[in-house]
Amino acid sequence: MDVCAYCDKSADLTKEHLIPKWLYNVTKHYDWQTIDRVKNKTIDAEVMIGDVCANCNNIILGNLDAKAKELFHKYFENFIEKDHTISFSYDFDLLTRWLLKLAFNSSRVHKSTQDYFIPYKPYIIGQSNLALKLALCVYLVFPTEVEGKTDAERKIYPEAIRFARIQHSDYEQFFDICNLIAINSFYFILLSPKDKNISANKWNELVELFLISNPSAVQLLPQNNQQIISASKYSTLDVMKSYLVNNKDRFTGK
Ligand SMILES: [Zn+2]
Repeated sequence: MDVCAYCDKSADLTKEHLIPKWLYNVTKHYDWQTIDRVKNKTIDAEVMIGDVCANCNNIILGNLDAKAKELFHKYFENFIEKDHTISFSYDFDLLTRWLLKLAFNSSRVHKSTQDYFIPYKPYIIGQSNLALKLALCVYLVFPTEVEGKTDAERKIYPEAIRFARIQHSDYEQFFDICNLIAINSFYFILLSPKDKNISANKWNELVELFLISNPSAVQLLPQNNQQIISASKYSTLDVMKSYLVNNKDRFTGK
């Protein structure tokens, strides 16, 4: 018997979706459906990873997905317009656990570094509180306006599910987890410190520096459950630029 990627118990393993089935179903018509930004290519969103036990997959992570689905219908399915501000209500632990799960799943699917996520596994499956330092930030991407006859033609919506490790030398020296999980307009970033013994003050300073270099992002604090968030200065084409350039052929029909 193999060992479950989440609870480390020996069990018959089942297949967990990289993207929950319900999320795949409501986004499968998107042009750039699931993008791995590290490789800058679309990936098969229905991809499964067969290393999760039935209890973690169907019960624990299944319940987490069900909660996230409510959040999707309340917020993520609605695109944020330029200059708009929203009041975002969240349960920090549920949202963070779900985003960690997506990032951890993605890292296993893409065989990229997973070590960063391992200390957070008991938290993801609800077996422990968040004892380790972790910051959750978000910025909102609005549709790019272009010339067109109809409303639908005039706007390019940020319709995408994206996973990426943010590769930036300034960040790599300070952060272990430095991952983007984007769902339509919502660009979430998870951060964990490289230095596991970092003091709370020093960690807050690092997150603050990250926010200064990303002025459109706001931190979702664990002690809060509501945050006012304004649209960032980024529209769809700003965040998709490198993807479009690297995949020109897909969009020019050549
Ligand atoms: Zn398990």
